[in-house]
Amino acid sequence: MLLRHTPKEVAERKALMINPAKTCQPIGAMYAALGIKGCLPHSHGSQGCCAYHRSALTRHYKEPISAATSSFTEGASVFGGQANLMQAINNIFTVYEPEVIAVHTTCLSETIGDDLPQIFDKAIKEKKVPEGKTVIGAPTPSYVGSHVTGFSNMVKAMAALAEKSETKSGKVNVIPGWVEPCDMEEIKRISSSIGVDITMYPDTSGVVNGPLTGKYNMFPDAGTSITDIKASGAAVGTLALGEWCSADAARLLDSKCKVPCSILDMPFGLKATDRFVDALRTVAGTSVSEEISKERGQLVDMISDMHQYFYGKRVALYGDPDQLIAMTEFLVSIDMVPAYVVTGTPGKKFEKRIKEITKDMVCEVKVKAHGDMFLLHQWIKNEGVDLLMGNTYGKYIARDEDIPFLRWGFPILDRQGHQYFPTVGYKGGLRLLENILGLLLDRLDRDNPEEKFELVY
Ligand code: SF4
Repeated sequence: MLLRHTPKEVAERKALMINPAKTCQPIGAMYAALGIKGCLPHSHGSQGCCAYHRSALTRHYKEPISAATSSFTEGASVFGGQANLMQAINNIFTVYEPEVIAVHTTCLSETIGDDLPQIFDKAIKEKKVPEGKTVIGAPTPSYVGSHVTGFSNMVKAMAALAEKSETKSGKVNVIPGWVEPCDMEEIKRISSSIGVDITMYPDTSGVVNGPLTGKYNMFPDAGTSITDIKASGAAVGTLALGEWCSADAARLLDSKCKVPCSILDMPFGLKATDRFVDALRTVAGTSVSEEISKERGQLVDMISDMHQYFYGKRVALYGDPDQLIAMTEFLVSIDMVPAYVVTGTPGKKFEKRIKEITKDMVCEVKVKAHGDMFLLHQWIKNEGVDLLMGNTYGKYIARDEDIPFLRWGFPILDRQGHQYFPTVGYKGGLRLLENILGLLLDRLDRDNPEEKFELVY
């Protein structure tokens, strides 16, 4: 029993978090920055922070993640990191020649009060930023929010580059939120099938799930170019997938460039994908293709075939708010019971939204924003579940309580393949259902006595 000290009795806690269901802001900012073409993320803080952020992303995506650091030591910690960042910008453009440097702060540089826009101004005036190159920055103090907040802040910094235009390009901006690179690829495929010309950012497809070519390329030929990001101010509309990850950037595009935005859920499961497809079709004035209609029909068929196994099964979920909202709705739609839903990211709106989605459930649904894995485990100890869904860190609970466990979300450190097989869209829904059913039936096969061990269920 790895977590044998977790007691069953739930005590009220106000100032203590145990095994948080989140990680630090700059990790999100670094992941988002990788979705810009020719971008080198830069961590404005000490080397230890940068090493941790890079290793978290490397362990999840199984790709080497490059990033630079301001390398704070005692001097910078006391007097501020301006000199370090100025030198870093100069060195990076001279040695590595990226198109963009995306700087995020850390706990330390935020506490000192380093002012990124002022440092960038100085760097530009002193000609440390070569002509045609770009530096963007996002504040990511990790003592507030979570990796999701960091992701959102960096996407907002990208949207700030958009240029207002009186002439519309006819394109649609899609801000995909923190999904796997294969999910971003799938969103592009769905859009292209419906005939919608999109600009998506960030776009990490081909960056952190690229092919092995035998040649190291520090800046893969993938990601959204700065030219396209600037032109996103001329789009006819923006679809932001996920309130927590994408809405701030979409609202900035709206207020700055008058590009109207719709904030949607991430397209996980049938209903959320329906809403995404419908929004795409409406904003671009096209109609849904045969290909996408067929995929939807296949998902509905699979739901009806599998429904008998899903009905009434209790699920505990934890992870990031945008993903959890869409997944909870999907589980409700297939008559599973999302009994416990926990996110480490703060936000009262999350609890309200989950309560709305589950309001017609006959049994109680427990939900917690800014919660932790310890509380989730206590709830499970008091009343068990049939399935646990979330990132790698749930494996300890799954092992101790002997629960089938579906790895989904960030980070997944002990399995591979998640960066190649999408879970968004109708096709992604098929994959999710296949994985859920596989786990439930494997458990049935394991536990059934021999006289009930069936070849066909
Ligand atoms: S000090 Fe702050 S930014 Fe650095 S790794 Fe820790 S939580 Fe993250």
